[in-house]
Amino acid sequence: MIRVVTLDEFDPALLKQLTKVLYQAFGVGAEHSGGTSVPSGMQEPFDANKLIDALPKVQAFADDKVLFLTMRKLAPRRLMSGEAPTLGLARYNSQRAIVSTATIKNVVDNPKLLARYCMQELGHTFGLHHCLDARCSMYPNWSLGYTNGDSIFCNFCRELSEARIRQTKS
Ligand SMILES: [Zn+2]
Ligand SMILES: [Zn+2]
Repeated sequence: MIRVVTLDEFDPALLKQLTKVLYQAFGVGAEHSGGTSVPSGMQEPFDANKLIDALPKVQAFADDKVLFLTMRKLAPRRLMSGEAPTLGLARYNSQRAIVSTATIKNVVDNPKLLARYCMQELGHTFGLHHCLDARCSMYPNWSLGYTNGDSIFCNFCRELSEARIRQTKS
């Protein structure tokens, strides 16, 4: 089960659309499991690494994935070449992921891009790495053209995520 936990007030229709896409993409149940709040003392833009661990415990089974969704900004990552926006973060092969909609202009009109970001971070929680296929949601999300893509996995990533999900269930 994929549990979407919101840190801000999102449009219920958008969340419904998102969980539907996630269900279709991963073949596991997905639902909005309610909201939670950012721990006191943390300020925007949030350090995604700190925030993902500091968020309160969510009632979930061991093999559930928890996707936190925020409208607020995540601090950019410092690279050798400058700064890169942080669209989200995930713990590889683990439970938690976070996605920010701060960089998406009018998210209600762009649910595909939100789903694409969420698919990538959730994909990482299932142990998927980045993909070279520009159409795929696992394509590096800072690449040019990523934002125009559809909320889909390539066949390779889809099969890999299905295999990982089967493994965790057994
Ligand atoms: Zn990624
Ligand atoms: Zn792929």
